[in-house]
Amino acid sequence: MTLDDEIRFVRGIGPKKAQAMERLGIRTLRDAVEFYPRGYEDRTAVTRVCDLTEGEAACIHAVLGTALKTAHIRRGMDVSNGMAYDTSGAVSLRFFNNRFAASALEVGGEYAFYGKVQREGRRFVMINPEFEPVGMDRKTGRILPVYSLTAGIHQKDIQTVTDAALCVLPPQMADFLPEDVRDRFALPELREAMTLIHRPQTLEQAETARRRLVFEELFLLSCGLGHLRERRAGIGGVPLRDLGLRDFYHTLPFSLTRAQVRAIEECCLDIASGRPLSRLVQGDVGSGKTMVAAALCWVAAHNGKQAALMAPTELLAQQHMQTLQPLFARLGVSCGLLTGSMTPKQKKEMQERLAAGEISVAIGTHALLSEKVRFSQLALAVVDEQHRFGVNQRAMLTQKGKHVHLLVMSATPIPRTLALLIYGDLDVSIIDELPPGRQKIESYAVGKNMRRRIDAFIDKQCQLGGQVYVVCPLVEDGEGDTGRVSAESCAARLQQVLPHRRVGLVHGRTKAKEKDAIMQAFADGEIDILVSTTVIEVGVDVPNATLMVVENADCFGLSQLHQLRGRVGRGTRQSYCIFFGADQGESARQRLTTLCSTTDGFAIAQADLEQRGAGDFFGTRQHGLPPLKLANLAGDTRLMAGAKQAADAILRLDPELSEHPELRGRIHRMFERCGEGMFN
Ligand code: ADP
Ligand code: MG
Repeated sequence: MTLDDEIRFVRGIGPKKAQAMERLGIRTLRDAVEFYPRGYEDRTAVTRVCDLTEGEAACIHAVLGTALKTAHIRRGMDVSNGMAYDTSGAVSLRFFNNRFAASALEVGGEYAFYGKVQREGRRFVMINPEFEPVGMDRKTGRILPVYSLTAGIHQKDIQTVTDAALCVLPPQMADFLPEDVRDRFALPELREAMTLIHRPQTLEQAETARRRLVFEELFLLSCGLGHLRERRAGIGGVPLRDLGLRDFYHTLPFSLTRAQVRAIEECCLDIASGRPLSRLVQGDVGSGKTMVAAALCWVAAHNGKQAALMAPTELLAQQHMQTLQPLFARLGVSCGLLTGSMTPKQKKEMQERLAAGEISVAIGTHALLSEKVRFSQLALAVVDEQHRFGVNQRAMLTQKGKHVHLLVMSATPIPRTLALLIYGDLDVSIIDELPPGRQKIESYAVGKNMRRRIDAFIDKQCQLGGQVYVVCPLVEDGEGDTGRVSAESCAARLQQVLPHRRVGLVHGRTKAKEKDAIMQAFADGEIDILVSTTVIEVGVDVPNATLMVVENADCFGLSQLHQLRGRVGRGTRQSYCIFFGADQGESARQRLTTLCSTTDGFAIAQADLEQRGAGDFFGTRQHGLPPLKLANLAGDTRLMAGAKQAADAILRLDPELSEHPELRGRIHRMFERCGEGMFN
């Protein structure tokens, strides 16, 4: 077999399992070898019973003292209890629905048990431990990789396919990381890393392998983004020299903050230079990024060119239209909206006017990317909330003109090292100042014991004429973890406790049209309390909303919570944010308290990075990048910077990577996963 063969031909994997594994992205042996463990269980160390720790998994060598007794506790639920001991003490064993354990374990036999330990009174209990006779060393006595699973697939199955894949790794595997780079960062060769990440003998080996593969991923990502950047740099941008910014500033109802002006000037320097603008404007929610976009759209229009502003949702696009149309009207600039929900006739008319150049500023959603949309002279593309779009989508928008400037805006602040890497194809401006007069949002981290008081507080905010967001981690009950509040049950409960308030519900499964209608109703004040999942995270401006309640806030990342908090405090009234979940352990309490004590998005992002690792930045697909498998590099900024440097060095000598076909192929495959290919 070779790496390109399909896993359904592996012994022990039938068509059914093969099908299930496709859900994990594993079709070929190559996919299998690139399906890295999400962690490891160290079963090499044997713990003495007296040294067991509550809540942690451990391996013990113990003699079965009493035979397992099985009792039937309810329909479909048997429990078997027994006891085992070593020279240091005794531990209870408990198995659920495991008759096999009862028959396999013999009193007086010495076994290796591996399982999670709980405390019950004065004694420890091991729940559903895995076991084998001491010395067998199949399930214990080694480092066990732990893979992500899907229904119908067990750890054993993934081990089977990864074993098969490792067996056919070619002895001379082409390694596209240059040798000097490998040396400098002490990274093992590709083949060795592949083997060690799946079958390490020590945790250090696993870590070394992981470092190599993380580096590789970041290197590929940097090469890809660097390539995009070079490609844009090669084309030149329409120079727009007559800025006329003074007219623009005079038309605004307020004066811009220094940070806004600085961002606008940085963009204008690029634009006037004849180079294409490729810039990310990053600023906390409410920092006024829209006005930066508006200023640049004005510059384009003022020079007789066109601009396009693309937002991720209909509502956001409409909101931009409402803000910008009157402003542009005063400046004599025509402006039009194009979204998916418009009738074919409306769309057609809009498309015609854009193609004829009658409209200078097009505001819209993904609909702007449609092939039918043509501009007569597009000079500027603005992508708002850019993390909702893929890198390729923003490229698609710029390809609607010849030398289009690109401005992307994001409210998800990320620490600088990470920004350098993942925005490798962009320059960065930061708006680090909020418009004057913003009041601070009062934030509280609370536990369940506050439920009734918070309900009363919600009611009070409504009574005072405000509106309330309630965000839940799940759509409906019975999904994922129990113990989490679902949006559906939350909405039902609130409607019951507060029957005189109008409660609305939106979530990821609500149809787009209905979702927009509900959001619009909320914006129009026809709904008092809007219960939702995180679908409302991005962009909408409802100045009348004064309270944000987040259920199970401990399940969210800090940056995301901060983003949610930005939905309130947009008007003049004092606003509040309540995070439930402070009773979920010390670390949850601390995290939420940190969040309540600061409103600095960058500080929060840094804390988030330290606490959860960069994996979540990538993992939650926050940045429209290809999904990374491994890159969880909390704090490993040296590795990050190194990967970028190495990528830049290669691209400098060989921008098209024509002398590095292997590397080129890899990058192509990586970016394929987030849309169309990159070398076409
Ligand atoms: P974001 O950066 O989150 O996109 P917006 O551009 O939506 O922020 O701006 C938030 C609000 O602040 C809007 O209502 C906008 O009109 C207002 N605003 C923007 N800049 C200023 C300013 N310099 N002074 C006062 N208000 C401003
Ligand atoms: Mg915005």
